[in-house]
Amino acid sequence: MTDIPIPDSVEHVLLDEATIRARIEVLAEKISRDYAGIRNEDFILVGVLKGSFIFLADLARRLTVPHRVDFIALSSYTDATDVPGAVRLIMDTRASIPGRHVLIVEDILDTGYTLSYLQRVFSARGPASLRTCVLLSKPERRKVEVPVDYLGFEIPDVWVVGYGLDFNDRFRTLPYIAALKRSAYEK
Ligand code: 5GP
Ligand code: MG
Repeated sequence: MTDIPIPDSVEHVLLDEATIRARIEVLAEKISRDYAGIRNEDFILVGVLKGSFIFLADLARRLTVPHRVDFIALSSYTDATDVPGAVRLIMDTRASIPGRHVLIVEDILDTGYTLSYLQRVFSARGPASLRTCVLLSKPERRKVEVPVDYLGFEIPDVWVVGYGLDFNDRFRTLPYIAALKRSAYEK
């Protein structure tokens, strides 16, 4: 286990490295079974930057089926004139989607706006199939229901960091997932 000091603003470790690793093994096995026999060029993992980069790296290396890796980046609108939860694509995939099996890999499902937006965008491009794989979910926070095919963990309504997830671009590379102290993110 990596011996990295726990930052002051961390309340407690929610999911340690071993717990995350074990769960990812289970997810990777399920995905490998479900996509058995697929051809490399037909299966695209689409990671949502930046939060999913570590999850995607660990998950992809556990898959026993051939696959390609691609990324997208999103930005949420902060303009008051926009509808709540509106997001926009600021970087698209390189791979073309029509006829391909697409698995969206996301770090965390909160209100559900982001994932439901992505499902709309990708299903409009005519993929052979479209599924979602999400590491964390906060069910209490949901505003729109989104189908998730592969889920890592359900967590309570707290701000979490580490394992790709940030707070103001900090704490992303902590090897575990930790809850931040409320005083660190609530004014
Ligand atoms: P949603 O659109 O489902 O409300 O939000 C999903 C996005 O919000 C995630 O992709 C992530 O960027 C961000 N998010 C929601 N909750 C957390 C959290 O606890 N920690 C971090 N780092 N990001 C979060
Ligand atoms: Mg995200």
